[in-house]
Amino acid sequence: MVLDNLGSSLKDALKKLANSSKIDKEVIDDVVKDIQRALIQADVNVKLVMKLSNQIKNRALTEAPPAGMNSKEHVLRIVYTELVNIVGKATPIKLEPQTIMMVGLQGSGKTTTTAKLARYFARKGLKPAVICADTYRPGAYDQLSQLCTKLGVTFYGERDNKDAVSIVRNGLKEIAKYDIKIVDTAGRHALETDLIQEMKDIYGLTDFDHKFLVLDAAIGQQASEQAKTFNEAIGITGVVITKLDGTAKGGGALSAVSDTNTSIAFIGVGETPEDLERFDPDGFISRLLG
Ligand code: GDP
Repeated sequence: MVLDNLGSSLKDALKKLANSSKIDKEVIDDVVKDIQRALIQADVNVKLVMKLSNQIKNRALTEAPPAGMNSKEHVLRIVYTELVNIVGKATPIKLEPQTIMMVGLQGSGKTTTTAKLARYFARKGLKPAVICADTYRPGAYDQLSQLCTKLGVTFYGERDNKDAVSIVRNGLKEIAKYDIKIVDTAGRHALETDLIQEMKDIYGLTDFDHKFLVLDAAIGQQASEQAKTFNEAIGITGVVITKLDGTAKGGGALSAVSDTNTSIAFIGVGETPEDLERFDPDGFISRLLG
């Protein structure tokens, strides 16, 4: 299940609200404190937590409940909508021909997500092809080509070429007739200057419709720094948060999205190519609190 620990602590906080005999400033402060604790434990950054708490408190203390809603339901509603607000809107994805560049650190789930995305678009009736531009991680070529074979997706790669930029240049010509072109770039363990340069060079080859940053849900507080660097280099158009099926805290990745003013496009919820979901802010928060 998605973010189990965060979900259960938030549910406890809301239960407290539901069980209180009256709604006053004291109760609201107490519940907001519990919500803050839950979010901080889940690695959501303090700035974002403070913003959310202030919004909840201000609204809960100043807004009158709409007709037909008691004050308890109203405050619950405020908490819910403010949580939906911090995860933001989903990245719009058009079901039309497009070129997508995948970036992220090594191990984030970039290659797996590339295959998942190819499958996603294929199921929508579009013809995908992928290019392996990860010349850095041994095995990346085989991993992606095998995933593509299993899915019946066209794969382009040059096993012995170490020049990612030329591979992408050649590949884009080769797969020109496909609807969806996905380029899987190299990740590293940290953001090194040559990696950023390589990304920029690939970025310069064509007009990418999307540049997706893949972030592991377990990444924690350093997520924001990484997202900023990637965003400054190539302009991220959407984030894919992977491994949300695990025990990860997830808040670091969520904060990174908010800090860079980007949005979440998809979430990864397992290792197989089917385990990709379109991000749905309302559904995500309902599931967390459900
Ligand atoms: P890359 O180095 O970024 O290309 O990472 P990979 O795509 O090779 O993924 C690293 C590991 O994470 C692999 O073992 C994947 O199976 C696993 N993985 C990727 N996405 C998910 C996910 O959404 N959930 C789970 N549980 N595992 C994932």
